[in-house]
Amino acid sequence: MEKENKSGERWKRLKEELEFKKSAVWPELSHPEREEASRFAEEYKEFLNKAKTEREAVRELVAMAETNGFVSLDQMTAKGRKLRPGNKVYAVNREKNLALIIIGKEPMWRSMNVIGSHIDSPRLDLKPMPLYESQGLGLLKTHYYGGIKKYHWLSYPLAMHGLVVKQNGEKVDIRIGDKENDPVFVITDLLPHLAKEQLKKKLGEAVSGEALNILAGTLPLEEKEAPERVKLAILELLKLKYGIIEEDLTSAELELVPATPARDIGFDRSLVGAYGQDDRICAYTSLRAVLECSNPARTAVALFVDKEETGSTGNTGMRSRFFENTIAELLYFVTGDYDEIYCRKALANGRALSADVSAAVDPTWEDVHDKYNAARVGYGIVMTKYTGSGGKYSTSEAGAEFVADIRKVFNENKIIWQTGELGKVDQGGGGTIAQFMARYGMDVLDCGPAVLSMHSPVEIAHKGDIYMSFKAYRAFLNS
Ligand code: MN
Ligand code: MN
Repeated sequence: MEKENKSGERWKRLKEELEFKKSAVWPELSHPEREEASRFAEEYKEFLNKAKTEREAVRELVAMAETNGFVSLDQMTAKGRKLRPGNKVYAVNREKNLALIIIGKEPMWRSMNVIGSHIDSPRLDLKPMPLYESQGLGLLKTHYYGGIKKYHWLSYPLAMHGLVVKQNGEKVDIRIGDKENDPVFVITDLLPHLAKEQLKKKLGEAVSGEALNILAGTLPLEEKEAPERVKLAILELLKLKYGIIEEDLTSAELELVPATPARDIGFDRSLVGAYGQDDRICAYTSLRAVLECSNPARTAVALFVDKEETGSTGNTGMRSRFFENTIAELLYFVTGDYDEIYCRKALANGRALSADVSAAVDPTWEDVHDKYNAARVGYGIVMTKYTGSGGKYSTSEAGAEFVADIRKVFNENKIIWQTGELGKVDQGGGGTIAQFMARYGMDVLDCGPAVLSMHSPVEIAHKGDIYMSFKAYRAFLNS
């Protein structure tokens, strides 16, 4: 034995003891765990199919939370009732932004655990005056939302989701294109035969923002003398079906999203391909984690925000005050009193995971990544110490102490994790809500699964990573 160690086997020992081991998730899972991970992915796909917009996501998340014993904060605290450790409450902001909270045994101002994800995804929004007629076709003007590659949205079946609010406040829900027999909408593309000039253009300039027009109908009114007969016929149809007039579209939020449902990908069905996995993959896994958390030591918060894809601005984005207002309200109902210093302490002493997806290295485009630091699909949840671009501009970098803290939690709970960085230095970059959570002074680490084809109509995630993210978030909330 001695002799063996001194000669050829020494490197094996060094490798074992010193090197960071990156492992693929699936081979590390036991058979029952693989079954659980597969089942989890099925439930996740159902959620994705139901929640294609931020409002739909809030609706689904609240429904699941209520089924699991969560009560709205207003209802729970009616008549000034105090909150106690173990109480499960939720607060909704304008149907697009949600916080789920389990009151911990320890005082909130000493420390709480927060997981923040976003539930908006890149898409096309209808403009306030969308409907027009040209060349006998009824069309709808759109304004894209978030970072899209515009060519992805041409010649692709699209569904229309959202709502129209009438002047009297009545809300009309619209959801067309998901059922098998529903019609879908589509943006036409130029035939290659006549695309000589278009094909000479740079990829980013070949399709302009104003070219993202939705084909919406062709049947004209019967009255031949009427102008814009197709447009009028579509308006008549909208009146008959939804009771709305053109002016109602000015107070509407109608979003065009891919009509295709979530599907398994590959011979081995190891991947999920679906629209909106950035970042509903983190929304769903963190929801499931909070549902399995009971009587935590630290108050557990799962936060779901809107408008991340456009800079976290607005009254439902991470930069709004919803989160701190909710914490202030919680403190009031826990103590029966309110002292701002405790609210500030609660926020500043918080531990947070910014739960968002990371870019997985794609072998076809691998030269945009530093292969030593890129995340891979199937290799577990990704810790991203910093985001940003160039010289770490606009980053929120997690402190080494906090990364060590989370690393310990993950290792003690047998979470398979890896590190990641968004591409090579100076290749581009991006940010998450981490920087806006960090403003409160809390520790924040970006932590989520890696996906392929991010921001495309079919984003791809690994079932092993989906399951591992859930386990990682659960371990964090219980830490
Ligand atoms: Mn994201
Ligand atoms: Mn994104």
